[in-house]
Amino acid sequence: MRYAMAIEVNKCVGCGDCVVACQTENNVPMGYSRDWIIEIARGEYPNLFMHFESQRCNHCDDTPCVRTCPTGASHVIEGGIVKVTHDECIGCGACIEACPYDARYFHPDGYVDKCTFCDHRVADGLEPACVSVCPTTCMHFGDLDDPDSDISKLIKTREHYTLLPEAGTAPQIYYLK
Ligand code: SF4
Ligand code: SF4
Ligand code: SF4
Repeated sequence: MRYAMAIEVNKCVGCGDCVVACQTENNVPMGYSRDWIIEIARGEYPNLFMHFESQRCNHCDDTPCVRTCPTGASHVIEGGIVKVTHDECIGCGACIEACPYDARYFHPDGYVDKCTFCDHRVADGLEPACVSVCPTTCMHFGDLDDPDSDISKLIKTREHYTLLPEAGTAPQIYYLK
């Protein structure tokens, strides 16, 4: 089992519904977020294209955030989902420093929080909240180890890129061109 997300950037309209859904589903406090939208130019001159990207923790295969955590609060669960056990987090911020994606934030209650791939929903056979509300269905979630899953087929057949591959973390959110 290897969970991943694929996002069709040419279908994202930047509406922010994914951000609101995540805040509601995961009780993210006002002023904070586990996911966010950026508008960015990709490609190389003269073939530049502008689009929106819905970003969040990349649930990397190689996890500096987990390696640097002194308490084991940051850890990886089945399916490669990277999580933080809030009770074990001492708020040292080592994981925030280590993450090249700025994907974590200090929760006002004194621990670090981030995207969980909505593992509580996935355990119930549901899609992550952000994926489920997207009005253009540009986000796809599933098991890359299953060659018949939609996400496996998309990644096999569509041109794609990941964020900051040079950071060496092997991110598991794929942006489909
Ligand atoms: Fe860790 Fe950052 Fe990768 Fe998420 S995006 S797994 S927080 S290094
Ligand atoms: Fe671990 Fe919490 Fe420190 Fe992050 S802030 S490294 S999760 S103890
Ligand atoms: Fe938020 Fe869940 Fe989407 Fe992660 S997968 S950004 S926790 S709604």
